[in-house]
Amino acid sequence: MTCTDFLSQLTDYFDGQISAELLDEVRRHTAECSHCEVVLDTTRQTILVYRNNEAVDLSPELRDRLHTAIMAKCTGKR
Ligand SMILES: [Zn+2]
Repeated sequence: MTCTDFLSQLTDYFDGQISAELLDEVRRHTAECSHCEVVLDTTRQTILVYRNNEAVDLSPELRDRLHTAIMAKCTGKR
């Protein structure tokens, strides 16, 4: 799984729509990739904050922002 694959699975992951197989890959990727681990963690916290405020869940805008940030980090290092 690449960082892009990971990000494309992120909403499904938090919606609980992800298959056991993909969940396994997501976990394996975050174990190997510290950037995506941070994204997963940040997203989880962001969703908790949003839910406490009774606002929307993971919006496309937020996902875009995370995607841009993570890709900048992952590609900038190489
Ligand atoms: Zn990654």
